[in-house]
Amino acid sequence: MAITAAGISGWEISSNSASPPVAHAAHELRSHLRRVGAAGSTPGVIEVRAAPGTNDAFEVAVENDRVVISGESPRGALNGAYWLLEELGFAWIEPGEGGIAFSAPAPLDSGVYSQSPAFPRRTLILGQDALHDEWQDWMEWASRNRLNDLFFHDTPPSRTGRATPRPTGAAAIAADGGGWLFERWDADGRAIAAAASRRGMSLQFGGHHLPTLLPRALFGDHPGWFPLRNGERDPRFNLCVSAPGAIGHLQEAAAAFVARFSGADIYHIWPDDIPGGGWCECSPCSALSPSDQALIATNAIAEAVARAAPGARVAYVAYHDTVTPPEFARPSANVTILWAPRERCYAHSFADPACAKNEKEYLEPFLGLLDMLGDDLSRLQVFEYYSDAILFKGLAPAHLGVLPADARGYAAAGVTNLQNLMVGDRPWLGPPWHAWWMARCAWDPTAEAKLALRRFSEAAFPGAAALMAAYYEAMETAYSSLLDLHDMALTPRRDVLDFSGVPREALRTKANEALGAAAIIDRCRALVENARSGSEEGARRLAREKTQYEIIRAVAEHLGNRTAAWDSALEGWFDEARLRLRAAEAALDAIDRWDREWNQPAYASLATPMRRAMRFHTSEVRRLIPSAPAPDPAGSPPAGQ
Ligand SMILES: [Zn+2]
Ligand SMILES: [Zn+2]
Repeated sequence: MAITAAGISGWEISSNSASPPVAHAAHELRSHLRRVGAAGSTPGVIEVRAAPGTNDAFEVAVENDRVVISGESPRGALNGAYWLLEELGFAWIEPGEGGIAFSAPAPLDSGVYSQSPAFPRRTLILGQDALHDEWQDWMEWASRNRLNDLFFHDTPPSRTGRATPRPTGAAAIAADGGGWLFERWDADGRAIAAAASRRGMSLQFGGHHLPTLLPRALFGDHPGWFPLRNGERDPRFNLCVSAPGAIGHLQEAAAAFVARFSGADIYHIWPDDIPGGGWCECSPCSALSPSDQALIATNAIAEAVARAAPGARVAYVAYHDTVTPPEFARPSANVTILWAPRERCYAHSFADPACAKNEKEYLEPFLGLLDMLGDDLSRLQVFEYYSDAILFKGLAPAHLGVLPADARGYAAAGVTNLQNLMVGDRPWLGPPWHAWWMARCAWDPTAEAKLALRRFSEAAFPGAAALMAAYYEAMETAYSSLLDLHDMALTPRRDVLDFSGVPREALRTKANEALGAAAIIDRCRALVENARSGSEEGARRLAREKTQYEIIRAVAEHLGNRTAAWDSALEGWFDEARLRLRAAEAALDAIDRWDREWNQPAYASLATPMRRAMRFHTSEVRRLIPSAPAPDPAGSPPAGQ
């Protein structure tokens, strides 16, 4: 025998626990099943039970007139409720009520089903104001997709001591250039903590705030607190960890920071967001690697946090010049290790032996971190970038193959938390498949991409599922080719997809691949344009997906042609270079037009510097080409990454 959503829609729902996540599970079951309508419902009962544990696992026992959801914890029971709803045909493909889909209603056979997640913590990182503005919807979306942790992260970093409120217009937001997470938490922090607690979710807070806690204005009175660089004290970045005054100030400020932004389980007070060169060369510090200096600073912050917010933890970030494990320093008891391999290759999984770049630059230091932690892997967390449209330049790679392979590798290594950074220069107009897929893979890394994509497309685009699954698969082919970094070195001012001319041969390969990727994406237009959905919501989603396609196509066109123009110019093929440059500039204009029509002001603090950087790199190529038009005065260097 089997049950269906319609068949159980009128069942009584009972629970054995007063725990808020259990009450929320009952509420969610009721409100979702109500959508199906009670016609055809038979008598029966759904019981929600929770043990007082902390594990997210659950068991669902299905009989003809009774379903028992038993969580190993209250959050486990909530997961069980969502699993049941999914099995019966529900999916949560976008934040907000409009993102609840009920399609392909399926019967669920009688039996006992058990599930346990591969990663005890599964995190969505909301990386910017535009996403924080919609935190209620994103929290509910994450919770329904069985993520159990939400990280409020600010790109660009927020500032203390502002006298004016957050601007509303795009130009003013871009001119201000800072994030507004601090003000958001001041206003909504209590509500965020209450909403997370109701869902059995934990919270993380912060970003690159070490410089926030040690204001650069202190340099005048305390130059010795700042790093010695090339023989002089330099106020720009981080601190001198051998200066007791600097450490003391940092600790006081850290205590005030966690008191003001109370309610999080993990705080992030990371060093400056620079590729390297921000650490101290004074006599005691010169014996310490950047990683050692960063960990000493993190331990000092953690000591203050242990007193000010007992139970909270502080993250040490292995990122840029701190991916190499520290040699001397060891993390304090309340310090977690956050592995953030931003410049890795996303055409291959992090442990794929076919990728020399990942193996040499990331797998080796990652294994070093595992060594350092020895038997204590419970504190190892991975900060990944699957939904990062800064890194991917506004593109939205599907990560059909890399995401589950990464998840399998990280789970096998003993990682306890897989996190996904969501941030970008524009809103997700199409449903964020990458984030939905990440939630699936973090629960079960053996998830089948083809099946999941089919299920997602049926939910998101009723009537056009086959065509849209083919669209995502074709885009995956293009992205795999665009994202392959080969052995390319990162060079100053160039972010990952700006590529580099080092080594020269790799740029040649890359130019051809990037053009090939742009050509595939161009051909995908037919798929997204011909798709038709029978449902109103599906038709609206298709229209948004098509609009999103236009900027993806323009970005790919720009990157392909700019890279090819650069390669041709270096080769001395100037006719070809001029042709490619013109195409790259036309694509930039198309991006600007898209922004004017579709972008939203809250994205301007990222979109504006990203567009400026694109113009800058284009003008750099133009300078290599004789008789190309004079450099665009708007093309100025990017202000960093
Ligand atoms: Zn020093
Ligand atoms: Zn690779």
